[in-house]
Order: sequence, then structure tokens, then C-alpha cells
Amino acid sequence: MEQGQDLCRACGLCCDGTLFDLVKLEPTDDARKLKQLGLPVTHARGKAAVARFPQPCVALCADRACRVYADRPWQCRIFECGVFKDAKMGRITFAAALRLATQARRRSEKVRRLLRELGDTDEHRALGERFHRTSERLESGLADDAAKAKYADLSLAVHQLKLLAVDKFYTQTIAPA
Ligand code: SF4
Ligand code: SF4
Repeated sequence: MEQGQDLCRACGLCCDGTLFDLVKLEPTDDARKLKQLGLPVTHARGKAAVARFPQPCVALCADRACRVYADRPWQCRIFECGVFKDAKMGRITFAAALRLATQARRRSEKVRRLLRELGDTDEHRALGERFHRTSERLESGLADDAAKAKYADLSLAVHQLKLLAVDKFYTQTIAPA
């Protein structure tokens, strides 16, 4: 599936903190090995401890390859976004899929640019978390008119990114037996 690899290498949105904030591990995943490989696996406390690591994933290389590909967790193995699935099943061409990925990347980059311009330069956090923090800061009433206008632009950019993500990218995955 070379075209599928090319598509994902041009995209990376399911690993870079655009579509997801974190990756949850399944009991079948080797959390210790993933930690040894450098992934910051933590265990969230609750009724049942859930091992997870945050996105943007530290295993995502500059060329959008996965550094731990052979050992990647189950969620990463099983996930195929809607665009990828549609192209794989022949419902759209890979060229059309690439155009959608490029469009989504542009929207994601616009959100990142506006976040930076509003003072959030924490590129190591997921977009959803960064937008939430920026919203809290700017809605606390301390923003001047210029920041308020830019925040309106940011809110619209996030909305447009979400629309495309929900329409074309998100799919449901089934937990392993
Ligand atoms: S979001 Fe879809 S096209 Fe993009 S890297 Fe993930 S699976 Fe591939
Ligand atoms: S482990 Fe690999 S496939 Fe999974 S989120 Fe990280 S870079 Fe993506």
C-alpha cells in the first residue's frame, strides 16, 4: 500500500496533536518497552488505571515516519482515518485524499500560527489543549481589542478545522478482544 504510506507521510495529523490529544494503551501493548523507546507513558488514576502518552507524539519524525513503527501501540496500528479508508476502498482517489490531507494541514497550520500570535508557543502540546488554555486566558477579560479580534479569528479557524476533521477524518475504532 505504497500510496497509503505516501498519503500518511504527507499528513501526520493523527500523530501530531491535531486530531488527538493522546494515545491510550491497551492491555496488549508493551508499555514498558514503549517507555524504553522514549515515549512518555504515564498511568492516569481512576477506577481503572489507563496507560497513555501525549500528542504531538515524540516518535513522529520530521518526515512524518513513526520512529517506533514496529512497536507502535494497538490504537496506532488499527487507526485509519476516513480519508485513508475512502482511498483504500476506492471511494476516492489517492490524489483526492492527498488534497483533503493538505487542506486539513493548512487549517491546522493556521490554528498554530494564530495560537503563536496570541502568545501560546508551546508546540509540544496538542492543539485542543492549547486552544482551551488560550480561551481561558483571553476570556478572563484581560485581552485588548486586537487580541480579541485575533481570538475571534482563532475560534473560527478551530471551528473550520473541526468541521473538516469530523466530516472526513474521524472514525470509530473497536477495542481488541
Ligand atoms: S490522519 Fe489519516 S491520512 Fe493522515 S496520517 Fe493519519 S491515517 Fe494517514
Ligand atoms: S507511536 Fe507512531 S503511529 Fe503512534 S502516535 Fe506516535 S508516531 Fe504516530
